[in-house]
Amino acid sequence: MRRLEDITEAITSYNPEADSDIIRKAYVYSAKVHHGQVRLSGEPYLSHPIEVSYILTRLKMDAVTTAVGLLHDTLEDTHTTPQDIERIFGKEILSLVDGVTKISKIEFASREEQQAENFRKMILAMAEDIRVILVKLADRAHNMRTLEYISSREKQKRIAMETLDIYAPISNRLGIGWLKSELEDSSFKYLYPEDYKYIESRVESKFDERDKYIKGVANIVSDELKKADIATRITGRPKYFYSIFQKMQSQNISFDEVYDLAGLRIITDTIRNCYAVLGIIHSIWKPIHGKIKDYIAMPKANMYQSLHTTVIGPDGERVEFQIRTEDMHNTAEEGIAAHWRYKEKKIDERDDKKFLWLRHLLEWQQDLKDPKEFMETVKIDLFPDEVYVFTPKGDVKGFPRGATPIDFAYQIHTDVGNRCVGAKINGKIVPLKYKLKNGDIIEILTSSARTPSRDWLKIVKTSRAKTKIRAWIKNEQKQRSIALGKEICEKEIQRYDLSSSAVMKPKALLKAAAALGFSKVDNLMAGIGYGKISVQQVMARLIPEEKILERKKREESKLRKIVEKVTRKPSDKGGIKVKGVDDILIRFGKCCNPIPGDDIIGFITRGRGISVHIRNCSSIADIEYDPDRRIDVEWDKEKSVPHLVQVAIVTVDKPGLLAKISSAIAVYDVNISNANIQTTEDKKAYLNFSIEIRDIEHLKNVIKTVERIKGVISVKRVKES
Ligand code: MN
Repeated sequence: MRRLEDITEAITSYNPEADSDIIRKAYVYSAKVHHGQVRLSGEPYLSHPIEVSYILTRLKMDAVTTAVGLLHDTLEDTHTTPQDIERIFGKEILSLVDGVTKISKIEFASREEQQAENFRKMILAMAEDIRVILVKLADRAHNMRTLEYISSREKQKRIAMETLDIYAPISNRLGIGWLKSELEDSSFKYLYPEDYKYIESRVESKFDERDKYIKGVANIVSDELKKADIATRITGRPKYFYSIFQKMQSQNISFDEVYDLAGLRIITDTIRNCYAVLGIIHSIWKPIHGKIKDYIAMPKANMYQSLHTTVIGPDGERVEFQIRTEDMHNTAEEGIAAHWRYKEKKIDERDDKKFLWLRHLLEWQQDLKDPKEFMETVKIDLFPDEVYVFTPKGDVKGFPRGATPIDFAYQIHTDVGNRCVGAKINGKIVPLKYKLKNGDIIEILTSSARTPSRDWLKIVKTSRAKTKIRAWIKNEQKQRSIALGKEICEKEIQRYDLSSSAVMKPKALLKAAAALGFSKVDNLMAGIGYGKISVQQVMARLIPEEKILERKKREESKLRKIVEKVTRKPSDKGGIKVKGVDDILIRFGKCCNPIPGDDIIGFITRGRGISVHIRNCSSIADIEYDPDRRIDVEWDKEKSVPHLVQVAIVTVDKPGLLAKISSAIAVYDVNISNANIQTTEDKKAYLNFSIEIRDIEHLKNVIKTVERIKGVISVKRVKES
């Protein structure tokens, strides 16, 4: 079993000023709380945190993270409370131990590639500090090394699968090449024991032959380099079992074809010498066309640098060389983030941006002398804009931060979204406006009676949910307008003393619709419902001309009167816009007499255009204003049409006051079209003005000014006539 000194010695080797006290303190504490616990291997439990901590020193972590390695299982497996950790070790260590504990609790279920990717992102997002991930990786590495002691095959496989799908790719992304390979090979052994054994035995049987060949090649190169006086280190390249297996699978080739490609790595001192080495190799053996890659002049996006070439070596066998400097080698092997997406197939642009900071980190790392300073810079929220949650089946879905259960519901299926009434998060019912958190398990509650609400648009975050909600509302409005349009038509047909079934024949309707510029009969009906087209225009195409003329004569005089009555100026709509509709008859509710600036609403009347009311006008409740006939209208800000408003003023009865009021009003460029004055016995005067007002602001200013005049008791707009 490793000892505390192994850890402190390791850390001081790369950071002489590391705070060994905190590590010692963590060791003593861990030994105390884990006392009496035993690993499945039979070793004292303490051996596990010690190994994890030791692995962390191999990752060149700071003292705090190394201490966290010793403490990482205390919250989960001992009586230690978060308060204990905070009291003894402080907030920073608590938040790291807590982070590791949280990640350890989530379980990965699916092997689907997209799911694995989301799961990896969720783990990164939950961590919020990259050191949490590194402790978790070290923990997993040691658990894999001791996986043989777990007796259940099932459990071994589950852990190995999670390691291969989640933790090995994360190590790869963070550029820790050796850890990635170790995790892959150890998982491979448990997941595909037969294939593992096959490759293991083939590698073994071929080892001597390969080794001899590679050494021969290395000697030839080495001699030539000595002659050129170039200092180098030549090594064979380790071939990992899982990477051999992957190549056999993905390229459908045999073991020999993968394994026979000899690989050598030449490490030299300067970039100039890298190119010199390349030239010397090419002078000995013929390079294969298209296999020369200059990643020094053009580093890979993950900062990887090397020269690659493949040549026809001794006995006509292909030999692959990688040539690099010592610095480049360190970056490729050990540097956090150096390798983060090496060989990964799927790289989308968003990932690229997310990991940009990691790449920068690598560059800073070279400037930072103090490892502590380096660690300070990595305490960044890894995915600040995203949250990852589970479906009840264990799939992981990603959302923008602030997303709600409604977003989740629409992600599952449009119908689930449309019928969503609530949600259960981790088994508890939450309101629809609940904001999703990383790791939530979410279940949507639906009801067939539910329909989407316009208010949902204010709380959803995904464009998918927004689009679906809008589409539903639009369709709903259209259905209502179609029904309304049909009803209007039927009523109108009655006025000609005809039956609607005789007039509304499908073929005739289709023809009328086409002639009026509508692609479908439904659209024509909706057009009538919206008020976009008048029912008379439609009837003119459906009803025989003589019938129309007959009715026209009958009603002409009557109709004219009505139109004149309801419109002030026949050509003017009083500064109202109805969405998407021109040429429509507008009249204002006499009950409330709206003026520009009032919150208004329109109603489609039967054959008399649109009636506009203040939204909270009491007469809207009347039967005439059926909610199905409601239509959105708004004031046309570009058109200023004076509106007549009644204002009631109460004053003390005092000479000269009327003149003062009139001139105060006149300042605002207001015409007084009518004034009515009454005095009472209790010395009060009641003035009633009809004034021409542009809009509500204009009116407010007038009222305010009049209110300020001495002797004025109250000023009110009169709404009811
Ligand atoms: Mn552990």
